[in-house]
Amino acid sequence: MTEDYQKLYTELKTKFDNADSLFQREIYPNFTDKHRSYMAKNLTKKIFNDLKDRKTENGVTLYDCIRAGTLSPHLTTGITAGDEECYETFKEIFHPIIMDWHKYDAAKQEQVSDLNPDKIKLSDKVLAILDKYVVSTRIRAARSLRGHLLPSSATPEDRLAVETKLKGIFEKSFTGDLEGKYYSLGALDEKQVEDLRSNGFLFQKPKSTNVLYHSGAARDWPHGRGIFHNNNRTCLAWVNEEDHCRIISMEMKGNIKSVFARFCKMSDKFKENAEIMHSKALGFIGTCPSNLGTGLRASVMVILKQFNEDVHLLEDACAKLDLQPRGSRGEYSAAEGGKWDISNKQRIGFSEVQLVQKLIDGLEQLIKWEEMLVDGKKDEVKKQVSEYQESK
Ligand code: ADP
Ligand code: MG
Repeated sequence: MTEDYQKLYTELKTKFDNADSLFQREIYPNFTDKHRSYMAKNLTKKIFNDLKDRKTENGVTLYDCIRAGTLSPHLTTGITAGDEECYETFKEIFHPIIMDWHKYDAAKQEQVSDLNPDKIKLSDKVLAILDKYVVSTRIRAARSLRGHLLPSSATPEDRLAVETKLKGIFEKSFTGDLEGKYYSLGALDEKQVEDLRSNGFLFQKPKSTNVLYHSGAARDWPHGRGIFHNNNRTCLAWVNEEDHCRIISMEMKGNIKSVFARFCKMSDKFKENAEIMHSKALGFIGTCPSNLGTGLRASVMVILKQFNEDVHLLEDACAKLDLQPRGSRGEYSAAEGGKWDISNKQRIGFSEVQLVQKLIDGLEQLIKWEEMLVDGKKDEVKKQVSEYQESK
């Protein structure tokens, strides 16, 4: 085994239990300048006092939800849901965070889902342009099983029950091109883990800096965790990492429509076989409020050598196109060799079809600008970026 799981299990458990036992649940958290999360910003003493004695039917408390953001001050949302009901029971704190993060009013708006890949417009001409620059495409979203605790509050038994249910769905319904095998994390050998990780297929192990640690979602690691994938690794699913399940569709090159079609097929299999956490206002529900709504991140690894010379210009261009640039190895990493991970920025307030279309259209524009940069027209690109209308 590549990780020393016994050591990791003990370390995670000790650190979590120590921090947990020192925390005074009845007292308003001692937020410092380092607490930069939306939770710390929005949790007033009044909200804290109103909510501190409330519990969901499963027994999840406000404290369970804010533990991650209190003990890990650097986190951005700083809150996790321990079960589906948290978003309602503690809405006085969840709603303002959702507003801050998504600019979405959970009390008034409704989230519309559209998982029909036929509606995506991607002509052969545009596909040929994308294929010149795009190395690979990936679409992922979370799906949670109704009736179970979410990973941050799950008991070991419930975690295993979620894994068993998910395995059942993969075995029964992931047929044809989706057919594959489930690998329990603890049973993977060193070579398998290295192979899966280095290709971006497998999640990382929990670190003290990520949300898993203090939210409680790393407890009992690696039990109940695992990965499903088909033979050619175009259809993947992560089990019991930050969410019950992350479904992932990926393939080489830039056929975003084909990747989305497979994603929709996978999503449908879940819908047919399980009750999925979902609400009219919030769409698909998961652990972190940053992934509500569609929960969808459609990304391409794309080579933008010229933009790489001026990262600020790329950031400005992406902002105008409602896209988010990340480095080559995930969030907060560097772009090696000009390889950028470009994805939709929003998750809620738009349907899946709309977000995927935004990626296609935005990428086409980004590539046009990249080609202008190759031709030495940087001033013209800067002008076009600054004048670009977001509603276009
Ligand atoms: P997410 O939170 O959407 O799962 P991360 O930024 O944490 O995304 O990245 C997860 C992994 O997926 C990383 O290893 C990253 O390099 C890989 N990845 C993301 N987008 C793509 C893509 N379009 N093609 C190949 N790998 C990708
Ligand atoms: Mg991530």
